[in-house]
Amino acid sequence: DTMASRALRIGLIPGDGIGREVIPAGRRLLEALPASLGLKFSFVDLEAGFETFKQTGVALPEKTVEVLQRECDGALFGAVSPRLLVAHRRPPQTPRPVRQRTSCQDYSGALSPFDLVIVRENTEDLYVKEERTYTDPVTGRPVAEAIKRISERASTRIARMAGDIAVRRQKIRENGAESIHTRPLVTITHKSNVLSQTDGLFREAARAALELPEYKDVVVDEQIVDSMVYKLFRQPSTYDVIVAPNLYGDLLSDGAAALVGSLGLVPSANVSDSFVIGEPCHGSAPDIMGKGIANPIATMRSVGLMLEFLGEEHAAAMVYQAVDESLGEKEFLSPDLGGEASTEEVIADVLRRL
Ligand code: ATP
Ligand code: MG
Repeated sequence: DTMASRALRIGLIPGDGIGREVIPAGRRLLEALPASLGLKFSFVDLEAGFETFKQTGVALPEKTVEVLQRECDGALFGAVSPRLLVAHRRPPQTPRPVRQRTSCQDYSGALSPFDLVIVRENTEDLYVKEERTYTDPVTGRPVAEAIKRISERASTRIARMAGDIAVRRQKIRENGAESIHTRPLVTITHKSNVLSQTDGLFREAARAALELPEYKDVVVDEQIVDSMVYKLFRQPSTYDVIVAPNLYGDLLSDGAAALVGSLGLVPSANVSDSFVIGEPCHGSAPDIMGKGIANPIATMRSVGLMLEFLGEEHAAAMVYQAVDESLGEKEFLSPDLGGEASTEEVIADVLRRL
């Protein structure tokens, strides 16, 4: 056998609730990829979340982080119960060096078809959590304020990632994936009309980054964030790749997820320069946990995103196509989409198409 083969080790962190039901779907999807792709996957099960916290007193064990760093090329992460955040009371203090993106496709039928990615900077902006409360010397009443920090470095980095994603999506489209976009488009969002220094820097750094020669085929546009919210809800098909500072990206991605019809369809990935974690956008969904009806599609699409960032665009395209076909046939839709199919039936249908 002379065919080149690439070994990829994937950490599996199901976490809590339906994370335990959908992450196995991700593993089975990777195992079902055709051998002709030349990919050999191995897996390592890792613990994190509220259950782990209850058992060990730690939500994210050292070992999980260590194994991810030492052994793994990528990871799939399920969800963490909100009870964990209550248990911790104070959120962790160090910002994570990751960026997040969310990819959405219309399933609600109420809007014309759309397919967009939100690229969210995830290390700075208002989320540096430098806040203070003091007493106003004039009124004698409390005032609170927070730092919004934007750096040229992080803004450039995230804009380049948006450019890379736009170029790659175009390639995947040219490989046969259906699309409404003919050219890659990146829309920079900001509020520099009001915040001329912070958002002004983000805007300028992003513009400069996207002028690099590798993005010469990318159409670059920009939009003030409030007007983007309006247009995102009226005409989501306008957008291809949106790049945003942390706060706007957070809000836009939850809003975009609402357009899709079910959280069970929406994937994301947390990406650093050297690592990628695929993660469905939904949470632990305690209301449907243990019933065998959680929609595994968000996780399966997150596997596609993870593959993209591992440089396996062809494998990613196959995953997206199998999922889209399954949804398009409407034969095995889970209850969140108005169907009666179980998690297992949806997985089986996607794997059969793959
Ligand atoms: P968490 O706080 O962990 O996010 P939550 O109660 O907010 O938990 P989510 O997971 O965010 O729950 O889900 C919100 C709603 O969407 C719930 O009604 C849940 O059942 C539904 N939902 C989320 N994910 C899925 C899925 N994969 N399949 C079907 N329904 C889902
Ligand atoms: Mg939630």
